[in-house]
Amino acid sequence: MVRRSISRRSLLTAVSAALLTGGSRLSLSASGTPFTLGIASGNPTANAIVLWTRLAPDPLSPDPQRPGGMPTDNVPVRWEVATDEKMQQVVKSGIEGADPQFAHALHVECGGLQPARDYFYRFIASGEASPVGHFRTAPATSAATDRLRFGFVSCSNYELGYFSAYRHLAAESPDLVVFLGDYIYEYFSHLPTKLRDHSDAVAATDLPTYRNRYAQYHTDPDLQRLHASTACLATWDDHEVQNDYADRWSETFDDPRVFLARRAAAYRAFWEHMPLPHSAMPKGPDATITGRFDFGDLASFLVVDDRQFRSRLACDHPPHGGGKQVTDAACPERFDPNRSYLGMGQEHWLYGEFRRGGARWNILAQQQLVADLKEHNDAGQIAHWTEDWNGYPAARQRLLQQVHDSAVRNPVVIGGDIHSFWANDLKLDFEDPKAPAIATEFVGTSITSPGPPYAKFVSWLPDNPHIHFFESRKRGYVSVDVRPKQMDVAFRAVSDVAKPDAEVSTLQRFTVEDGRAGVNLA
Ligand code: FE
Ligand code: CA
Repeated sequence: MVRRSISRRSLLTAVSAALLTGGSRLSLSASGTPFTLGIASGNPTANAIVLWTRLAPDPLSPDPQRPGGMPTDNVPVRWEVATDEKMQQVVKSGIEGADPQFAHALHVECGGLQPARDYFYRFIASGEASPVGHFRTAPATSAATDRLRFGFVSCSNYELGYFSAYRHLAAESPDLVVFLGDYIYEYFSHLPTKLRDHSDAVAATDLPTYRNRYAQYHTDPDLQRLHASTACLATWDDHEVQNDYADRWSETFDDPRVFLARRAAAYRAFWEHMPLPHSAMPKGPDATITGRFDFGDLASFLVVDDRQFRSRLACDHPPHGGGKQVTDAACPERFDPNRSYLGMGQEHWLYGEFRRGGARWNILAQQQLVADLKEHNDAGQIAHWTEDWNGYPAARQRLLQQVHDSAVRNPVVIGGDIHSFWANDLKLDFEDPKAPAIATEFVGTSITSPGPPYAKFVSWLPDNPHIHFFESRKRGYVSVDVRPKQMDVAFRAVSDVAKPDAEVSTLQRFTVEDGRAGVNLA
């Protein structure tokens, strides 16, 4: 565990010299603060939280030797957790070194907190204080809990829109927000409709470019507001590394050894910029972001990683990399039972968590569409997409059989990736319209990324009667209100991603009843 690379004594000397007296060792930004990237909290439990910030007086510094415009030495940062917003009742505090090895990112693992409590926090460095953030700890494990409100989000392309959806979700003051991937986009868009430019004007491929990409996203005021206002859980999808990658297999058919070096840089930058514990810090191209998070006796979140361990896409041959539409006859490899979407190790862990049981509502926080989606190719034949769960039907069947056989209570799957809203019944047999739902799926649309063609997808829906709602023309997020007897779900849509002050409205509401899987339109 790398927390600080200087001794406690030299740290304290540095503190008294720089921090407590306010003497500045940093060349501060025009705004006079090293906290240009905001603050965040994550992985809340009943008694602990991870607090994050990264010192960056010059957030998009082009100098890879001095990311964020920081000096090359360790900088002491004081952190404080209080029970009041004015930070007068400080209950936990400490000093940690912001390490240049990690671009002066801090990941404070603060324990000893009370369950189901509101807390406030801030950082102090070089005489400057960060904004004050808020988080709420989880209720004690198994404690009777009557409510949890959370939002889930995915697919925020900075170039293609403003992040009003993040602002409106923050305004709802949920207990928790779940990031389901495509938190950044690695590429540089050439779309004429784009509204802002990714920094460096290149695809991110190495540590300096991934760092600056995350830094740019963290300068966004709406994202900063969301992170500061509520704790999060986070997993990634493909664009945190490269479009449509699978394990060591890149969309561009790179040498896997070369691609793993890129993946290592991308995973490192993700960890540096998210409120994740030290246990999630990558070791080369390998990282563990999978986990279980309990909220009293009401809800458990099982957060999985869909990219690192998945089998290579089916029928993945040059020259066309990435996802594609295939018929059964053209790509029998898709059905190979040895192929896995989560990787066999993560499947084993997940099924064990199903059998462990626990909370009344069990939420699988993952990235992509799970429901079977029969598409029509240009020749009018039935086809499937190779890049989401539809590319891994045997793995999906194992997942759903385990959901069924474990009798895990009230399974609800949440996802993103496809830039559209979906509400689906999940079944052991999608071919039988009368087969009962065994789980419920809600897919949130993108924060900004453009949706798939609406009319074409709608034309496929008659072949997919388990899909109860679809809308790809709206950007937004999903708000969920969990109570013992019912889960209420609201699909929230922003008016226009081209307007920084876009408004929000509810597109559709749904309910799921305790003890009865399946979508109900409200
Ligand atoms: Fe996306
Ligand atoms: Ca994606």
